[in-house]
Amino acid sequence: MTTTELPPLPPRPVVTYTRHNCERNHRTFSALAKCIWPDAIWIAGYTPGQFATVSYCFWEGPTVMQWATEEDARRGIAFIDRGGCSHSCAHDHRIVRMVLP
Ligand SMILES: [Zn+2]
Ligand SMILES: [Zn+2]
Repeated sequence: MTTTELPPLPPRPVVTYTRHNCERNHRTFSALAKCIWPDAIWIAGYTPGQFATVSYCFWEGPTVMQWATEEDARRGIAFIDRGGCSHSCAHDHRIVRMVLP
């Protein structure tokens, strides 16, 4: 049995977001994510933490998945990079680290 080697993924910077769209002090990363991406189609995450992977592949708006650690986020984005986030995947996926105000 042979396995096909996938091409290495380009190194992906983690973008830090400190800006959001209101003056409130959000206490949870889930609330902050809703404020940063008010036009998100959905925001999900099994363990909503400060990291998020965001797909900008849909004209309707971004989709956001929250992660507890950078390692989890990298694993998650590697998965959608290889498999595509949807049928209309444009491969515009980003890792974001949110900072609470
Ligand atoms: Zn806000
Ligand atoms: Zn995509």
